Amino acid sequence: MQHRIIVLGAGYSGAIAAGRLAKRLRREDVAITLVNAEPDFVERVRMHQLAAGQDLEPRPLREMFAGTGVALKLAKVTSIDVDRKTVAVQSTEGTEELAYDTLVYALGSGGNDQGVPGVAEHAHQIASRPGALRLRERLAGLAEGETVLVVGGGLTGLEFVTELAETRPDLDVTLATRAELGDWLSSKGRAHLRKVIDRLGIAVYENAAVTAVGADRVTTADGRTFLAAVTVWTTGFAVHPLAAATSLELADSGRIVVDATMRSVSHPDVYAIGDAGHALGAGARPLRMSCASGTPMAWRAADSIAARLTDGKLTDTPLRYFNQCISLGREDGLIQFVTADDRAVDHALTGRFAARYKELVCKGAVWGVANPTLGIPVRRRRAVAERVEPKATARIAA
Ligand SMILES: Cc1cc2nc3c(=O)[nH]c(=O)nc-3n(C[C@H](O)[C@H](O)[C@H](O)COP(=O)(O)OP(=O)(O)OC[C@H]3O[C@@H](n4cnc5c(N)ncnc54)[C@H](O)[C@@H]3O)c2cc1C
Repeated sequence: MQHRIIVLGAGYSGAIAAGRLAKRLRREDVAITLVNAEPDFVERVRMHQLAAGQDLEPRPLREMFAGTGVALKLAKVTSIDVDRKTVAVQSTEGTEELAYDTLVYALGSGGNDQGVPGVAEHAHQIASRPGALRLRERLAGLAEGETVLVVGGGLTGLEFVTELAETRPDLDVTLATRAELGDWLSSKGRAHLRKVIDRLGIAVYENAAVTAVGADRVTTADGRTFLAAVTVWTTGFAVHPLAAATSLELADSGRIVVDATMRSVSHPDVYAIGDAGHALGAGARPLRMSCASGTPMAWRAADSIAARLTDGKLTDTPLRYFNQCISLGREDGLIQFVTADDRAVDHALTGRFAARYKELVCKGAVWGVANPTLGIPVRRRRAVAERVEPKATARIAA
């Protein structure tokens, strides 16, 4: 009898987890199904490039997973019943219910309007491909000198505002940030960021907490108004509401609370990874929504599931960070080295070398999807469940 593993979402974390599980376990023992709404793997870390008008390489999931032993199901997840252990999906063939023994929840996130009025109606976002494509079309129709305002001075906002200013020097590109520009970076990182922003002619409004967005303007908490033909909202990500409709234990952010093995603290048959999972990293700080967190979370979840199924060794050391990699257009970048719990240290790489480094990181992230056992020897282990039913089943469920 095969152990049924369903992985929901084929973004960075879900795709890596599915591939790694397939390498770790024998095909006779497990049936691994990867469910994704879209037929292509979406490089979310390049959505600012897509929005700015660059074309991205298509990456059909069917090709990526051909011959891996992972069954790909192109369908939209519409609900999950973690007590009955079923997932409802909708595809071109209609609705269907899938049953699982182990579920890996990796549905990622989308834009976060932070409850600010007018964002949903008037602002664009680049957290998803449809959003980035809509913005791309809108930007293509802008005339010389029109203003684009990017709200949010975090990693996504900085990457987009610099990409756009470099690609479209004819536009008036501006940035509104709640605090001071790059205030979490080292002094070298901050100085370099400021230099690039000045070189690209980007006007920056600092300490500007935007409280309302209109069709052609935003207003701030301290009463300032900034006019813009297009407003782009990049103030963080929010998870999809599917998990909130289940009995899973969630953090305030709506992310599923997991332990160091990425297993739900309320439902031991469920693992949550990537943006959807709330795990504590080094220093007991929640891992931030990022590829930098999602990839090791995926490795950890796959290894934990395989270990539990095969009586292997579990690892529960907290995950850690090494650097924050920020593109500043195609020819410049900033690699900010950080502590294990993601605080900037006084060491950063800048300029063209940093741009190359960042490009390698992006390419490496996709390569990691195709090579999910990175640095770790592949051990196809026979699942305990097959060898000693039914005792092992009880152990898996424990
Ligand atoms: C412009 C931009 C730049 C970024 N740059 C960086 C960076 O430099 N470094 C970094 O670490 N992070 C970066 N990030 C963040 C990073 O992209 C995300 O944190 C990461 O993609 C999360 O991975 P994930 O696997 O959790 O989710 P996702 O990559 O979002 O994947 C989720 C998958 O689930 C699918 N899905 C969603 N809902 C359903 C449903 N109901 N049914 C079926 N399928 C569904 C989606 O189609 C998708 O394939 C960036 C993000 C953006 C937008």
